[in-house]
Amino acid sequence: MHHFKYRDNELYCEDVPVRIIAEQIGTPFYLYSHATLKRHYLIFDEAFEGLDRLVCYSAKANTNLSVLKLFESLGSGLDIVSGGELYRGLKAGFSPDKIVYSGVGKRVDEIDYALEAGILMFNVESIEELELINKRAGILETIAPVAIRVNPDVDPKTHPYISTGLKKNKFGIDKEAAIEGYNVARGLENIDVVGIDCHIGSQITDAKPFVEALESIKDLIDELRKIGLDIRFLDMGGGLGITYNDESPPHPREYAKEIVASLKGTQLKLILEPGRVIVGNAGILVTEVLFRKSGKDKEFIIADAGMNDLMRPTLYSAFHAIEPVVDNEGQQITADVVGPICETGDFLAVDRKISDVIKGDLLAVMSAGAYGFTMSSNYCSRPRVAEVMVKDDNFYVVRDRERYEDLVNGESIPPFLDV
Ligand SMILES: *Cc1c(COP(=O)(O)O)cnc(C)c1O
Repeated sequence: MHHFKYRDNELYCEDVPVRIIAEQIGTPFYLYSHATLKRHYLIFDEAFEGLDRLVCYSAKANTNLSVLKLFESLGSGLDIVSGGELYRGLKAGFSPDKIVYSGVGKRVDEIDYALEAGILMFNVESIEELELINKRAGILETIAPVAIRVNPDVDPKTHPYISTGLKKNKFGIDKEAAIEGYNVARGLENIDVVGIDCHIGSQITDAKPFVEALESIKDLIDELRKIGLDIRFLDMGGGLGITYNDESPPHPREYAKEIVASLKGTQLKLILEPGRVIVGNAGILVTEVLFRKSGKDKEFIIADAGMNDLMRPTLYSAFHAIEPVVDNEGQQITADVVGPICETGDFLAVDRKISDVIKGDLLAVMSAGAYGFTMSSNYCSRPRVAEVMVKDDNFYVVRDRERYEDLVNGESIPPFLDV
């Protein structure tokens, strides 16, 4: 359920016509619904009612400061994967003791930053990383709380680029090697082993892989407890999918029910790292039709947003519904919706049934709240687009459209070129 709905053939975000925002700030822009963000967070969190838990919203899905601030105000923690996300999280007001830090390639400066901030825990993905964190904690005279990210080797049946819990994936430590990892960890002076972590992938539309992973991790926890390790946190990662087209992922309540049932009696504090399921359907990308053109075998709708603004169709062949902002109820055509970029892969949709829009019409690319703006780039020197948040009948630009000056920010010409 989201708050992007038609009234009299015109698309609204909550109580604001999308067209009005486009008229005032231009296109393209990302548009987020405050009510939808809030509702999705609360549904997810409340699904685990009664269980000792901390929902750590996964920042990389959408790191806009206002989005982060909203979740912080609702009591969320934060899952980060870089020093930059830590910076954003702290700026948005998250308490460091609600921040967990995942990622296979943490740099020294990032580790130091997180140690100095005093985060809840590091999700460690290799023995070398463990040793480095121990060393840095020693230098900074502190103790680093860690969980080891275990790779349970389950198939999440999602796009290969976003499955992370298979043996062949770069993430985590194999289950067999994890015990050894924990043995190394507990011998390290500046490491406090507090938990165990797994994150098996993204856009997962079935509860089974989660349960499979959990069962496998539970066995491991038993073994770890037997050898005297005090595992307090179980971090189940994120990955619950959403409906982009015709997928029917489990409702957060069903997902929670399975997990809660499997966790009974384990005395673990559950950490969850949802990203997409909270923000995905809370945002759209609004773009204007620049031109129409007919190829020999194809109809093209050329939009002013491209793969640099929304990379998912190009990167994963991902499906995003595309709707006219003002629906003239004209005929349907089959067309490719493409961007202005000089790449054949620059498309938002291929062979799509879509209403017969013309130059100047506005299109809404739906379900673009997750991995939309955060994956965008300046390719082809295109300024990154504005981000807007609607609450009730107000809208607010939460990130300005970049200007041309922003494109060259930080660049300088050395004297030997300055003739
Ligand atoms: C990306 C990521 C998440 C969030 O995944 P979603 O599919 O957006 O829920 C959670 N945890 C880790 C470690 C991640 O890398």
